Amino acid sequence: MLDNSIKFVQGVGEARAKLLEKELGIVTMRDMLYHFPFRYIDRTRTYKVSEVTEDNASAYIQLRLRVVGKAFAGEGRKQRFTVYAADETGRVELIWFRGIKWIEKMIEPNRDYIVFGRPSFFRGEMSLIHPEIEVVEKALSRTKESGLQGIYSTTEKLTSSLGAKGLYNIICSLWGVVRGHIEEYMPEYISRKYALMPLSEALYNIHFPQSAEKLKQAQYRLKFDELFGIQLNIQARRSERTGRRDGFMFPKVGEKFNTFYHTKLPFSLTDGQKQAVRDIRQDTVSGIQMNRLLQGDVGSGKTVVALLSMLLAGDNGFQSCMMVPTEILARQHYASISKMCEGVPVRVAILTGTTKAKERREVLAALEAGEVDILVGTHALIEDRVRFSNLGLVIIDEQHRFGVEQRARLWTKNAQPPHILVMTATPIPRTLAMTLYGDLDVSVIKGLPPGRKPIKTYHYFESGRLSLQNFMRDQIRRGRQIYVVYPLILESEKMDYLSLQEGFDAIVRDFPLPHYRVAVCHGKMKAEDKQRAMEEFKSGQAHILVATSVIEVGVDVPNATVIVIESAERFGLAQLHQLRGRVGRGSEQSYCVLMSDEKLSKESSKRLEAMCQTSDGFELAELDLKLRGAGDINGTQQSGDAFDLKIANPTYDHQILQVAQAVAIALLDADSTLSHPSHLALRQLRDRYAPEHKTDFSEIS
Ligand code: ADP
Ligand code: MG
Repeated sequence: MLDNSIKFVQGVGEARAKLLEKELGIVTMRDMLYHFPFRYIDRTRTYKVSEVTEDNASAYIQLRLRVVGKAFAGEGRKQRFTVYAADETGRVELIWFRGIKWIEKMIEPNRDYIVFGRPSFFRGEMSLIHPEIEVVEKALSRTKESGLQGIYSTTEKLTSSLGAKGLYNIICSLWGVVRGHIEEYMPEYISRKYALMPLSEALYNIHFPQSAEKLKQAQYRLKFDELFGIQLNIQARRSERTGRRDGFMFPKVGEKFNTFYHTKLPFSLTDGQKQAVRDIRQDTVSGIQMNRLLQGDVGSGKTVVALLSMLLAGDNGFQSCMMVPTEILARQHYASISKMCEGVPVRVAILTGTTKAKERREVLAALEAGEVDILVGTHALIEDRVRFSNLGLVIIDEQHRFGVEQRARLWTKNAQPPHILVMTATPIPRTLAMTLYGDLDVSVIKGLPPGRKPIKTYHYFESGRLSLQNFMRDQIRRGRQIYVVYPLILESEKMDYLSLQEGFDAIVRDFPLPHYRVAVCHGKMKAEDKQRAMEEFKSGQAHILVATSVIEVGVDVPNATVIVIESAERFGLAQLHQLRGRVGRGSEQSYCVLMSDEKLSKESSKRLEAMCQTSDGFELAELDLKLRGAGDINGTQQSGDAFDLKIANPTYDHQILQVAQAVAIALLDADSTLSHPSHLALRQLRDRYAPEHKTDFSEIS
């Protein structure tokens, strides 16, 4: 029953079914049933007009209003019907563009109505567009269950086709159809032990809460199911991986590692780096394939940990590859690794999308012949024609930039799975990592190499532009270099290029030759030109590099001490923090200047404030989660939309997550294939959360 098309539900039909699919991805009755309200409003609570302000206006509210007048405007299809209403504290306009005849008939002046909708403000005046409206007597006579009504996420297109109440009505009809067809899959003994509400009752209460308490139980049950379903997959994979015992062995610390470590390494490792290397050494002699996430704030020195691991692989006769998200970064890593490895008996090669055909042929042949030890590259590495002779270690830098699919293709290149080290500077709270990346062990490099001064961060408005320029000149006089970054959310956005170009022109004007030299680097430039710009900056010829967020990840120019981020309000916290990490890499005091519009949303100003207050990436990541609020984690880059969570939030629901994980481990220990009669039904839950392409991190074959 639940697999039937939603179009058969009363009030839906072909056209709306199409729309539901397009707008919300809802196809079957199950999809609809699992389209949960994202919040609930208390319909027993009625607001006064004066209580509603622009700050709290994003919510749906209920008002009791007296109608004082009405007016039509426009003609034909462009009609608009306005009702002027008020309570003793203020006035509101109620506006309709459709269904005008019907509304007009029911509205009587000097009568009281209960109005429900989402307020919007224009020049301080409040209005409600297409609110629900009912005469007071009728509204009050209606028996209320709990007073809690679900609010469903919807889209503009859907709202205009279904009306404010439309989705709710569909859910009501749907419930009538499916109520007898919801099968419980949770084994009795688990439900009893963890006091889980029966599935059918939970689904009913999530849509139609009978009480606040029941709603809580329903939410608990459904969150549990999601996290449990994911854990059933993760833990099964984990025990499969660790049970296989076919990890490559790197027991030998040989010439490559030792020569580098004792004669080339230009500094001593921090404690965090040492620990990470120890973790990796331990993993690579365990006989089990390594699957490790290396987290470390921007500038914490992950690259050298990666290099040491690759040298270790080389000492044991294995090849390694390191995949990075951008061409620039690939070249930078290649250059610095080649340089650091001068005199070390190790062969390093690079492969990117722009590698010339002849060179590519040579690299590919050398790779297959086992003549290359370390290959650095972009996602060009995952192409089928790239074949290794014996790939033993895969390193993925700045992993949040890659899709699940891309990451996975790298380790299908061997019959026997290579060890995997994934590196990220985007800190992921532990519990989130546990859920989203599941079968990964985590090493964390805490702290930065010694001698770094904390970066000073300031927030300026346009009015501070002149003093910013003076400051920049002063820094250049002291021999320092400066990044100026423009937002580039989409590579295709014309506007962004315009502002970049204008910004570049302005900077060239303000910092003219011969005293100043300005380079520019953005995604639309040819690879060679980008490369040249980066070279000019790296070598110190250019004082200022104007760039888009191309430079966001990994670029290392220790002499750059200032980064100016234009339209900083348009960047997310994680991105701002990454960008800031471009400076503060040498021993000089570094600065980050956030330029923004005077008019800022509350959230943007909180973000910028947070940036000025702390430079701790982990603190910022936690804050970011809080600012974005629950439920939005799914939309973030780092979740990699690996799982389709509808109700659980791994960060907020970490207690449920821990229980779900423990239950999954115990259950799989006893019955790894879910073959016991009381577990058979659980397969549907497990399969619902199976990674779609079978290409999660840990998926190797
Ligand atoms: P990230 O973790 O952001 O990738 P990098 O690996 O690029 O950081 O390192 C940042 C800078 O710190 C580089 O210039 C690197 O040479 C330097 N570095 C790394 N480890 C140390 C250390 N233990 N002591 C001093 N400098 C270090
Ligand atoms: Mg890096």
